[in-house]
Amino acid sequence: MEYVQIGDVSIEVFRKPIKNIHLRVYPPDGSIQISAPEKMKLDSIRLFAITKSEWIKKKQQELKTFSRQSAREYVSGENHYFRGNRYRLRVIYQHTDPHIELQGTQFINLYVRREATIERRAEILKDWYRADLNETLENLIPKWEEILDVTVDHWKIQHMKTLWGSCNVKRRGILFNLELAKKPFHCIEYIVVHELAHLIVQNHGERFTALLDANLPNWRRTKEQLDSFIV
Ligand SMILES: [Zn+2]
Repeated sequence: MEYVQIGDVSIEVFRKPIKNIHLRVYPPDGSIQISAPEKMKLDSIRLFAITKSEWIKKKQQELKTFSRQSAREYVSGENHYFRGNRYRLRVIYQHTDPHIELQGTQFINLYVRREATIERRAEILKDWYRADLNETLENLIPKWEEILDVTVDHWKIQHMKTLWGSCNVKRRGILFNLELAKKPFHCIEYIVVHELAHLIVQNHGERFTALLDANLPNWRRTKEQLDSFIV
């Protein structure tokens, strides 16, 4: 993966068959991506990023304000996402083991003690997301190992700020962002294919996109969809 570093901001660079360079700041954390023509020099990309640095700062500030406003309190009525669908949270106070239950297609029921803190409520929901994503990945990874004829040595679900997934090619290890549990299945599958494909091609060049095209023809649309989600 290519990066340019501007001060303490690190920007991921994607090579694309395009004429003009462009830059986007993504919610919720203000991560930045540059799409650049395939042959553009990294120095020129860096210069471009520098000219945009004021704008980047402004954008990131806006996003910070936004995410503060939407901070979760884990009370009934809040919107929470699961597998790409929006649910309403219903907090049900009880003294047995804290847990989560889906109720139809509308409600996520959170069973907790009344005195449970916001942190504790968040943790229960996180554990539930993690277990669900884990199950999805346990099915998807062997499937795509076989199709792509690669082997993953180990993988892990982790909270990540700026990436949906990452691949350590040398150690054949893959990390998946816990936030994927909130996304539709095809988005999770795209990230699995993307990261496993890095075991064959490390960069995002032509060979890489050809590999994705051959195996997951709709990946560009899925990627766009994933990038535009507000967590
Ligand atoms: Zn990648």
